[in-house]
Parts: sequence; structure tokens; C-alpha cells
Amino acid sequence: MDPIRTHLRPYRWQFLAAVLCVAAESVCDLLGPTLMAHIINQGIEVGSLPEVYHWGKLMLLVVACGALFAIGRNSIAGIVSQGFGADLRHTLFSKILHLSMASSDHLESGSLITRMGNDVTQLTHAVNGTMRIFIKAPVTCIGSIVLATMLSPRLSIAIYGVLIIVFLILFLTMKLSYPLFRTLQKAMDTLNTRIEEFLLGVSLVKALGTEKYEERKFAEDNDRLMKQSIRSQMLVTLATPLITFTVSLGTAGVLLIGNKLFTLSSIDIGNVSAFTVYMAQILSSILMLTNIFNILIRTKASKERISEVLEAKEEKQDGEEWQTLPGTISFSDVTFSYPEGSGVPALSHVSFSLEEGGSLAIIGPTGSGKSTIAWLLLHLYPVDSGEITIGGESLESLSNDTLRHAVTLVPQQASLFSGTIRENLLWGNRDASEEEMKEALRVASADFVTDLDEPATLSGGQKQRIAIARALLRKAPILVLDDATSALDAVTEAKVRKALFLLNPKPTLVMITQRCSTAMSADHIMVLENGKVEGIGSNKELLEKSEVYHAIFESQLGGIIHG
Ligand code: ADP
Ligand code: MG
Repeated sequence: MDPIRTHLRPYRWQFLAAVLCVAAESVCDLLGPTLMAHIINQGIEVGSLPEVYHWGKLMLLVVACGALFAIGRNSIAGIVSQGFGADLRHTLFSKILHLSMASSDHLESGSLITRMGNDVTQLTHAVNGTMRIFIKAPVTCIGSIVLATMLSPRLSIAIYGVLIIVFLILFLTMKLSYPLFRTLQKAMDTLNTRIEEFLLGVSLVKALGTEKYEERKFAEDNDRLMKQSIRSQMLVTLATPLITFTVSLGTAGVLLIGNKLFTLSSIDIGNVSAFTVYMAQILSSILMLTNIFNILIRTKASKERISEVLEAKEEKQDGEEWQTLPGTISFSDVTFSYPEGSGVPALSHVSFSLEEGGSLAIIGPTGSGKSTIAWLLLHLYPVDSGEITIGGESLESLSNDTLRHAVTLVPQQASLFSGTIRENLLWGNRDASEEEMKEALRVASADFVTDLDEPATLSGGQKQRIAIARALLRKAPILVLDDATSALDAVTEAKVRKALFLLNPKPTLVMITQRCSTAMSADHIMVLENGKVEGIGSNKELLEKSEVYHAIFESQLGGIIHG
């Protein structure tokens, strides 16, 4: 899909009007020198003032029309290109919203920001440029050549010589600078990713005191960007004076030959003057062309990068229809590796099942694949082998909407949006009533909320409780808590857990946790290690048969029980 063409379609009439303006303007520009030749040859040369007035008025009229057309095309170009840019950004944003997880892992967020910012701006410039000069440059160039040839075929040989050299220069710069502009974009991406990472972890950087290190890394990337920019600009900057020089030589040649022809009286002096003006117009249109090439080179890279986003794989889209499923879960022999991962499976041969209204705790060291189970349950990634079912239906066969209504996840990092607590809660369920919100806050032990319309600037533990309340409002038959109470003190955590078990209707609960005390409260406990199930059973069973569980238990509760 060509993002430029599709997004310009709504503006085709304005675009056409701008092109017509440019064409008319070019014609006015082209007529100028010929009219001047008339003034000189038929007026000044012969000493006839009326002729000078006659042609002079005509020339003035043509120039004025040209200026009006120029104002017209510039205004239209501004309106159309900004509208085009806004539309394109909108398309990109809604595309990014629907990207599959694999695609968003692949297109890092840093590069998505560059694409939405820098690359769109680049295309906007290109569109603006097209409407203002793309047509004008070739029309003026070819028109000047034709009219100059008509004035004097012999003099125009100089023009052809100049043109050959100029196009050679243009071709070479295009060829050499395109790869440079690509690496330039890459360097810009790296820098953006770095800035974004820093902003996300700013408190961590401060806490660890690694500002110096960050600064050095930034300086390196920044330096690389600067060098790349200079290198890619250098070629283009070199091209312009070279071209100007060539054309000036050509003009000098014209004057020399013109002088000879004039002394042989085989050319009018007016024609020589007009000829040099056409030469100047050819120069300016060629410079415009180099500008166009410059824009095209940059646009090509930007266009490819935007197309890459637009063509990335989306998650399955389906209608508003969804069905209610019973809250049973089963994993049978599930193996999965992240598409952008190391290739080592994050989960291998995982099997378990959970009855409706039951509870399962998943415990294990970091990196053992606990969160991965949550992502897979939401079908954010397809499994490599094995099958996951919810309510007896394979995830492959379920629509996204059905799945989102069946499973609610409270992720490991509770994130709230800027806005009030009410807005954040409503984000979980737009139809939630005031009563339901208060009830959800009560279950989540969020008693610190006195006013729903307070801004949601909260501590980590408070955020987690709001996130749980928000999830409860969705009233899904399956609730997955990924370490969602990690920032709560033991007393509050126990309170939240008890309230969750008392919910009516009772959701099927999957609790991912690091704490044995939490795990013990569930009907079943599954122990994960390196993506494999190390043990599954009750607290008592696992203490006997699972080494990993025994070790976690000893480290957390051993002292209390034996001591
Ligand atoms: P846990 O939640 O138990 O700490 P995870 O399920 O988050 O563990 O991670 C399991 C493994 O998968 C880890 O080795 C981790 O590096 C890898 N992993 C997690 N998320 C991604 C991802 N988006 N892309 C690639 N690898 C990932
Ligand atoms: Mg995790």
C-alpha cells in the first residue's frame, strides 16, 4: 500500500487545483523572457516608445498573474499537506493500537515514535513540495529549453552540454546519498529508544546514580547521529554549488557565442538577453529538481518505514459479537517461544487444568515463564504447539471479544492513566455504576479513596489496588493476577485475597505470585522453573515432592514455622 497515494485521495480536487495553479504559473514565468526579447528587439533597438509600452504592459500583466497563481498554489499546498499529515498520523495510531504483540515487539516503541513524528513530517514536506514545485520544475525546465531552442538553435547547444553534466551530478548524488539517509534514520531511532528508556526508568537511574553512564551512552549515540547527518548533508551540499558553477559556465559560453553571432549579425541582441534569462530559469528549475531529489531520497526511506507499520500484522479483528464462556481453563502440552526472543522456549510442555470458580497459584523464580502463561491465556501470542482452551473452546477458535470478556488480567506493572480514579475505573467497564465502583474499591481494599474524582497520583501499592478494582469491574469469569499484590504489605494483601475468595459470583482465579503465603490460599499450586512445570499440587504435597517449592517455602516461612 502506498501511504502517500491513499492518504492524498480525499484531497484530489485540491491537489488538482494546486497543480493547475503551478502549471499556469510556470507558463507565466516562461512567457517573461520572450516578452522581454520583444521589448528589446521591437522597442528599445528601434527606439519606439509605444512598442515598449505595449509589450511592457503585457509583461506586467503576465508577471502579476504568475504571482497570483503562486499565492494560490502555496495556500492550497499548505492546507492539503497538513491535512494529509494529520490523516496519516491518525491511520498510523489506530494501526499501532491493533498491532499483534509479535509486531509491536518487532517495531520497537522508540522507532514507532520516530515513524509517527519524523517520518510523517517528512512525507508532509514531500506533499507540500510536490504541490509547490514538483510540476513547476520540470515544466519550467523543459519549457525554457524549448523556447530557448526556438530563439536560437545554435546557442542552445551550450544548454544541452550543461544539462548532460548537471544530470550526471544529480544521478551520482542520488545514488550515493540514499544509503546514507537510511543509516541516518537508524541512528535517529537508536537515540529515540535511548531517550524513551531513560524517561521510563528515570527514578531507577537516579537511585543507582548511573547518570554519568547514561550521559556517556547518550553522547555516543548523539555523536553518531551528528556524524551521520553531516555525512549525508555533505554530498547534497556539494551538489548545489557544482550545478550552479556548471550553469554559470554555460551562461558565459552563451554570452561568448552570442557575441560572435551578434557581430556576424545573425542574431538579435534581445534574443541573446532572453536566452540568458532562460538559462537562469533552467538553473533555478534544476536547483528545484535537486531539492526534489533530496526530498525524494528522504521520503523514500520514510515511506518505507511507514509502510512497514501499515503492513505489519494485526491481531484478529472481529465484530462486536461475543459469547459468554464458563470459566474453565486448560493448558495441554503447551510449548511457546517469543517470536523476537532468544529461541529458548519460554514455556515447554506445560499442562494443567482449572475448574470453574477454582483457584490456581503459579509460583517460581523470575524468568520461569509465569507472566508468559498470562499473555498466552489472553492469546496475545499463538502457541507453538499444544492447545489452550477456555470454557472448553480452543483459543484459536474464539473471537477476541469473547476472549476479552472471558479473561481479565491485572498485569505485573500496574499502570494507570492520567486522570481521576473514576476515569481509571470506568476504563475497566464504561457502564459501571457508582455503587459497583465503590464495591470494587472495597474488595480491593482501596479504602484510601475518599473521592472518586481525585486525580490518580498514587503510590505503587495504591495503584495496584486501583488496578485490581478496575479489573473486578469487568466481571469476567476468569481473573488473572500477575503478581498484582506485590507492593502491598502482608496484612493488606491477606485482606484483598480474602475478599477476592468471597466474591459472588466466584471467578476462576489465577494468582501469579512470589509469596508462599499467597500460594497456600489457592486450591492448587503450580511450580514453574525454566518454563517447565516442576510440580503441581497442594501446599502439603509440594513441600514433599517439589524441591523448588520447598526452597521458596523455607526461605520465606521456614523461620516462622520452625522457629
Ligand atoms: P516471569 O514472569 O516468571 O518472571 P516471564 O514469563 O516474564 O517470566 O519470562 C519468561 C522468559 O521469556 C524469560 O526468559 C524472558 O526473558 C522471556 N521473555 C519474556 N517476555 C519476552 C518478550 N516480550 N520477548 C522475548 N522474550 C521474552
Ligand atoms: Mg512476570
